[in-house]
Amino acid sequence: MGERAVGVAPPRVMTMAGTDSGGGAGAAADLRAFAACGVHGCLAVCAVTAQNSLGVSAVHGVPPELVAAQITAVVEDIGLDAAKTGMLGTGEVVAEVVRTCAAVGIGGDGPVPLVVDPVLASMHGHALATASAVESYRTMLLPLATVTTPNLDEVRLLVGVDVRDRAGQHEAAKALHGLGARHVLVKGGHLAGDTDVSVDVLYDGHTFTEFPGPRFDTDNTHGGGDSFAAAITAGLARGLSVPEAVGFGKRYVVEAVRHSFALGAGYGPVSALW
Ligand code: PLP
Repeated sequence: MGERAVGVAPPRVMTMAGTDSGGGAGAAADLRAFAACGVHGCLAVCAVTAQNSLGVSAVHGVPPELVAAQITAVVEDIGLDAAKTGMLGTGEVVAEVVRTCAAVGIGGDGPVPLVVDPVLASMHGHALATASAVESYRTMLLPLATVTTPNLDEVRLLVGVDVRDRAGQHEAAKALHGLGARHVLVKGGHLAGDTDVSVDVLYDGHTFTEFPGPRFDTDNTHGGGDSFAAAITAGLARGLSVPEAVGFGKRYVVEAVRHSFALGAGYGPVSALW
């Protein structure tokens, strides 16, 4: 007889996301964050990208029925404590994710919290979602979101608010909450005026909570948004409340950016290695 295995099952999470052949963003970033945050990560591949540190050179969709089959296979056997969406790509995939999640109790009033990271464009400006996908986010997916985590570009595309200051973050959060997301985290990113800090604002329909964090002097932030949302998802799976999970996710992404590194000739990735 060999040695007895002693593993204890950790919380289970799923990312429904796109792949990044350079291993920086998307599913790769999510699975790294999940492992670093002590949860078991499952994956439904929703889009395939060819990309490196210089940008995205090709995008291909995944058939919606294959997306649904990946989610269903996991739910029927392994089970989930939380889930997140990343790059979904097309309106058809968004609609299928919405249908499947609603049917199995992910998001909305279901037992499994859903983090919706509305991935619409890369930091290089490459579109990662079609126009019909953006519309489907607005009308179908945001109403299922336990929490959604847009950056300022995504806010502009989703609700047409051009955020320039904290008041703009509040206005955008209210508009997104009005679309049905239970909690909205409007990430500050490179808001003018916030020179040394980056302040993310969480809104639950009543209260605004600010999450300040340091800003780093680096261009190697590829995959930062995915990593933040993935760590929030891990926090929810571990039983944290939404504000606690956002704080947990923020601490993770701050360290991930602090330890980011150059890779290739363009923008390197945030790291889970420290
Ligand atoms: N590729 C995929 C598959 C993604 O999910 C994302 C972001 O979520 C990106 C690329 C873009 O990442 P970044 O904006 O950090 O370059």
